[in-house]
Amino acid sequence: MSESIVECVPNFSEGRDSAILKEIVDAIEASGGVNVLDVDEGYNTNRTVVTFIGSPKDVEAAAFQGVATAGQLIDMRKHHGEHPRIGATDVLPFIPVSKMTMEDCVGIAQRVGARIGEELGIPVYLYDQAASSLERRNLAAVRSGEYEGLDEKLKDPNWQPDYGPTSYNPMSGATCVGAREFLIAYNINLNNADRRYANDIAYALRERGRWKRTGNIEPFYYKGDVVYFGQNGEFPCGPCDFIATSFEELKNHYSEEHGGDLIARYDDLGIDPKNPVGPVFDDGHFTDVKAIGWVIDEYNRAQISINLTNYKVSSPHEVLEMAREEAGKRGVIITGSELIGLMPFEALREAGLYYRRRAMKSTGIPVGDLLETAIQSMGLRDVSPFEVEDKLIGLSAPEGPLVDLSVLDFVDEVSRETPAPGGGSVAALSGALGSALTSMVANLSVGKSEFDDKYEYLCDIACRAQEIKDLLVRGVDADTKAFDSVLAGMRMPQDSEGEINARKEAMEEGYKDATSVPLDTAEVCLRCMELADQMADVTSVSMMSDVGTGCLMAEAGLRSAIYNVRINLPNISDQNFKQDVEKRIKELLSKAATLRDSVSGKIEATFEI
Ligand SMILES: [Zn+2]
Repeated sequence: MSESIVECVPNFSEGRDSAILKEIVDAIEASGGVNVLDVDEGYNTNRTVVTFIGSPKDVEAAAFQGVATAGQLIDMRKHHGEHPRIGATDVLPFIPVSKMTMEDCVGIAQRVGARIGEELGIPVYLYDQAASSLERRNLAAVRSGEYEGLDEKLKDPNWQPDYGPTSYNPMSGATCVGAREFLIAYNINLNNADRRYANDIAYALRERGRWKRTGNIEPFYYKGDVVYFGQNGEFPCGPCDFIATSFEELKNHYSEEHGGDLIARYDDLGIDPKNPVGPVFDDGHFTDVKAIGWVIDEYNRAQISINLTNYKVSSPHEVLEMAREEAGKRGVIITGSELIGLMPFEALREAGLYYRRRAMKSTGIPVGDLLETAIQSMGLRDVSPFEVEDKLIGLSAPEGPLVDLSVLDFVDEVSRETPAPGGGSVAALSGALGSALTSMVANLSVGKSEFDDKYEYLCDIACRAQEIKDLLVRGVDADTKAFDSVLAGMRMPQDSEGEINARKEAMEEGYKDATSVPLDTAEVCLRCMELADQMADVTSVSMMSDVGTGCLMAEAGLRSAIYNVRINLPNISDQNFKQDVEKRIKELLSKAATLRDSVSGKIEATFEI
C-alpha cells in the first residue's frame, strides 16, 4: 500500500532568530527528498521544533545536514530559555511512520549519531528506544544538569557519550539522538464546560492514574475522600480494597492480582517504596497515555487532552471507547474528538476496522471508506475540520495519470495511435476489476443470515481482494512507466565503444524492468483467481455469475500480462534471468488453467441451462 516513511522531529535551541532558523530548515530541505511538515518556533522557550518526513535514506541525510547547520549557527554560550536543553540540536528523535520497525529507526539513530560525533565533534547520547543502557532511556535523565552542567557530566565515567568526543564543546553542547514511537495528540470533547468532569475521566484513563478515594466516589470519583499511606501502619492497594500490613505484602499482592511491578510504578510516581507517604494511587486503564482535563473557550467545552505515546499499545479508538464508558457512568456525553497535528494512516485504518467489526460489517471495503467510518465513529469533525489528506501521514492513494481518467477517457486513450497505454495496462485493469468483483461478492455475502458463521472467512477474502485490487490499480500506470527505461536506454549516445556498451547495459536493465512489472501483474492476478475459487465454494447461487466474471477477468489479466512478458523476453541476453522467467510463466499458466476449470465447474453446476 505505502512506501517506507520515517519522521524526524529535531528540537533546535533557537526560537527567536528567524534568519538562523531559516538557514537550518533550508539545509534540511536542500538535502532532498524530505517534506518539512511543520516548523514550530517558541519565543519563550527559545526553542524550535521542526517536523519532517521522507524515506529512511533521505531523512537520515537531511537530519545530519540540519544538525551540521545548527552546529555552525547556534552558540549555546548565549542561549537562555525556559525549556530544559543540553545542546544546539537538543534532541533528534526518529519515528517509524509506515513500513518501518523500531529497530530500523534505532539503526538510523546509531548511524546519524556516529556521524554527528565523528564529523561534527559533538558528543552524542542515544536515548529512548535507541539508548545503550536502561539508565539512558529516559530523556530527562540524559539531559539532567542541562548545558550548564555538561562539562562536569562528561567527566563522569557513567555519562561518557555514545559517540563523539568526551571533551566539552562549549559552542554546541551535546545532542540526544533517539528512536521513539509516534506521539498522537488527541482530545476528547465533553458536552459541558466543567474542567472537573474532564479531569475525573482523564485521571481514570491515564497511566499515572489518580489519588485513591473512598466514600462519595460515584458517579464522580473526585468527590470522595483521599486515602493516604501510613494511617495506622496500613498499606492500602490502589486498584482494589485490599490493605496490606507491610510494603512487601503489598508488592506481592500487586504483582499477583494486578500483574504489575509496584517498585517500578512507585518509581514513576515519585513514591519512596521504603517509606511511602502521601496519597495512595489508583491505576489508570491504559499505559502509554497521558491525560488531563481542560476547557477550551473557543469551543465552550471541556476536553480530555491526551498524549498517546505508543498508539500500537493504546490506540486512540480504544481510549475513546473507554472514555465513552466512563462518561456514561457520570451521565456525561462524549460528543466527539479532535486530532491535533497528524497521526499515522495505520492508526486511523485500525480504528475503521474496529468499528466495522464491532457492527458485524465487512472489513474488506475500500480504504477511503474505512477511514470515513473511523472519522464518523470517533466524531473527528465535531469541533474542527478533518480531511485525510491534511491529517494522515503514510497514506498513499493509488493515483496516476491513467487511473485518474474517467472510464470513457481511459478507453479512448487506449484506442489512440500511441503505443502506450497498451496491453500491459489493460491487463492490470482487467485483474483489478476481477478482484473488485470478488470483493463485492464477499461483501454482499457478509450480513446474509445464511453466512453469519462465515463472517471472519468472508472478511478475510474481501480484505485480500481489496489489497490485490489496489496493487493492480497501481499496475495500470506502472506498466506504462515500465517501458520508459527501455526508451531512455534507446536514446543514449553510441559514438564510442564505451557508450555502446553503456547503452546496451541500460537497455538490458530496461527490458528486465519491462518484463518484471507484467510478471508481477500475472502473479497478483493468480492470487485473485484463488480467491474467486474460494468464493465459489461459499457464496449463494444468485452471485455465481459475478464470481465467474471476476475469475475470467483475472485470468484475462494473467494471460495478457504474460504476453507482455514474452514479447520483451527475446531482447534480454541474461540466460539465467530468462530461464527463471520462463519457469515462472509455465507455473502460472498451469495453475491458472486448474483454477479456471475449478471455478467454472462450480458455476456450471449451479446453472440450469
Ligand atoms: Zn489490589
